[in-house]
Amino acid sequence: MYALVVHGGAGSRSERGPALTEQYRAGLAAALRAGQRLLEAGGSALDAVEAAVAALEDDPLFNAGRGAVLTVDGTAELNAAIMDGMSLRAGAVAQVRRVKNPVRLARRVLEQLPHVFLVGEAADAYAAECGLTLVPNEYFITAERRAQLAARAQSRAQGVELQTNADQQRQPARGPHAHPRAALGTVGAVARDERGNLAAATSTGGTLGQRSGRIGDSPIIGAGTYADDECCAISTTGHGEAFMRTVLAYDIAARVRYRGDPLALAVEQAINERLTLVSGLGGVIAVDARGDIVVRHNAAAMAHGHVTSNLELQITV
Ligand code: ASP
Repeated sequence: MYALVVHGGAGSRSERGPALTEQYRAGLAAALRAGQRLLEAGGSALDAVEAAVAALEDDPLFNAGRGAVLTVDGTAELNAAIMDGMSLRAGAVAQVRRVKNPVRLARRVLEQLPHVFLVGEAADAYAAECGLTLVPNEYFITAERRAQLAARAQSRAQGVELQTNADQQRQPARGPHAHPRAALGTVGAVARDERGNLAAATSTGGTLGQRSGRIGDSPIIGAGTYADDECCAISTTGHGEAFMRTVLAYDIAARVRYRGDPLALAVEQAINERLTLVSGLGGVIAVDARGDIVVRHNAAAMAHGHVTSNLELQITV
C-alpha cells in the first residue's frame, strides 16, 4: 500500500478566517492528488513528496514558494529540504530568492551533488545550472504578505506584540526563548510508496518579519525534515527554533529506532516531553514503514490531509 500525508502549516485557526478554509482545502487536495498520481503509477515516495510540496509552493495561499512570508526587509527568502528514507540521501537549500520551486532544487542537490546543503546566491546559481525555472523575487511576494508585514510593523510600533491563541497557552519551560509569531502555511509532505520506501520534504518562507539570513528548522535535516525507511518519515511546522533546539524530527525517529516505540507514541512524547520543554508550538506529520500515519500538533490548528491506496483523501483545515 502507499500513503501520502501533507501539511499546510500550524498556527491559529482564527487567523485563517472562514473564507479561506475552502481555498486551503482545495490547495491541500491538489497537492495530495499530484503526489497520489505518481504513487498510483508505481512512482517513488521521493517523487510523491517532491510533487506534493511543489504544488503547495505554487499555491500563493501557503508560506512556501509563491506566497512566502516576508523578511523584515520585505524580501522572500526560501528554504526547503527533501530526504530519501531508503538511501538516507538528503538535499536542502536555504535563503534562495530566485528558484521558483525550492523543493525541486533540494531534490537536485540530493541527486546530483556530493553535498547536502546549499545556501544563498550560490544555490540559486546552481538552480540555473540545473535548468530549473528562475523568477524575480517579486514573483513570490503577494499583496496579502505585504499587508501582514505592514500590520506587524505597525503593531510593533505601537508596542503590541501580536500573538496567536496558541502563543497565549504557552507553558513554563526550560531555557530562554523568544519565539516569533507563528507563521501560517509552511508546507510539507511524507510518503510511503508501494515498495515500502519512505520520504519527507518541507518548504517554507520562514517566519513573518524574520531578520534576513535567519534559517529555521524546515531545511535542517533531523530538525524539520527526516526520513529513514527503518523508522519513519517526518515533516514539521511551527516555531523553527524550538524544533532545531530539540532536533525534533530525529528525536521521533530515534524513539522508534532505539526504543521500538510505536510511531504515534513517539510523536506524542516528542511533542509533550521535548517541544514543550522549550515552549515550542507546532506540529508534525509522520508515516512509518507499515504505512501508519500520525498527525499531531500543540498549536491551535494545523492544516493537513492524507490519502492512501485504501483510504479516500481526507483533509482537516
Ligand atoms: N518552521 C518554520 C520556520 O521556523 C515556520 C513554520 O513552520 O511556520 O522557518
